[in-house]
Amino acid sequence: QLPCTVREFSEAAGVPASQILRILMEEGVMATMNALIDDDLTELIAAELGVNVELKEAVSVEDELLANIRDRQDDESELVPRPPVITFLGHVDHGKTSLLDRIIEIDVVSGESGGITQHIRAYTIEKDGKKISFVDTPGHEAFTEMRARGANVTDIAVLVVAADDGVMPQTEEAISHARAAEVPIVVALNKTDLPGVDLNRVMQGLSTNGLLPSEWGGDVEVVKTSAITGDGLDTLLDTVLTVAELHEYKANPNRPAMGTCLEAQQEAGRGVVAKIIVQNGTLRVGDVIVCGDAYGRIKAMYDTLIPEQRYEEVGPSTPVNVTGFDMAPGAGEHFYVLDDIADARTIAEARAESNRKVTLSGGAQHVTLETLFDR
Ligand code: GDP
Ligand code: MG
Repeated sequence: QLPCTVREFSEAAGVPASQILRILMEEGVMATMNALIDDDLTELIAAELGVNVELKEAVSVEDELLANIRDRQDDESELVPRPPVITFLGHVDHGKTSLLDRIIEIDVVSGESGGITQHIRAYTIEKDGKKISFVDTPGHEAFTEMRARGANVTDIAVLVVAADDGVMPQTEEAISHARAAEVPIVVALNKTDLPGVDLNRVMQGLSTNGLLPSEWGGDVEVVKTSAITGDGLDTLLDTVLTVAELHEYKANPNRPAMGTCLEAQQEAGRGVVAKIIVQNGTLRVGDVIVCGDAYGRIKAMYDTLIPEQRYEEVGPSTPVNVTGFDMAPGAGEHFYVLDDIADARTIAEARAESNRKVTLSGGAQHVTLETLFDR
């Protein structure tokens, strides 16, 4: 069974655990009895001990109960167009939150402590009858983390670059994140209302980083914007919609919902409120849901912008606040809808147990959540 703990290996191979721990130590791995050892280490220990191990894929509860839901491929005929999901990326203070504020016509920036975005915001807007979903994250760490966990929620990155500052270190990082995620980039050249800004200099900076603006003969759309005057925002939305049409994002609304948790917390009097985004299928009130080691039955769904607005069901690319989880799922965790609440509980409990093992193993090298969940 893979991965196994030192104790399990010792019992299976009939070798004292101390001997295994010594081999691990020689490899520079400080482990405990409950530490999980990965495939490579398992083979290495087996070779050292001269025992035969057969590496078998562990059939986890998760695989048994979730596999056909998770891995079910949609038939081409079931797919319909879905709204694109846009994430703003860029250097701090270049105007990501202000642009989103202006687009949805509310003012979050001035209420932020120290101008730092504290929460993930996600909304769906409509432009000329076409929907667009936006996600604004507190820094791009959240984006990286989610991508690292395979929970890629973004279709198109809008790279926000302030005209007065130009391309900065975090701009460059944002570019590499978007590239690694293989999402198209649209540039919002922001703060163009400021006097004396040198737009050519910024375009030069973009070109140097491999983003050649279309007006310079490249294939990157650079839209000049101002979150203060609102200039260019219409063009920005149109550009995003054009890119989206080119990519033909699709989903199947006629399957049980799956998606990703953006953030979640316990709220006084309401229980757990989770901000999630449905990526495929349709989520309904009453659905049984599992997300990381949290599970439950969807009690209510609320609009992310208008808290009084409730929904009975939401489709693909829709961010929504939901209640009904037994505890707060982690940001970036995938969620799935199942038929049976008992199955959801079994999966959640198995995952909680695995997480506990990893915690117990006290950060031995080679042990990651990925080896645990084998994806
Ligand atoms: P974020 O860190 O990228 O989310 O940046 P914010 O949206 O918090 O904006 C940082 C600061 O720049 C705030 O004081 C905004 O008012 C200001 N700002 C944002 N966009 C513009 C713009 O287009 N023009 C001008 N002049 N200031 C802007
Ligand atoms: Mg912000």
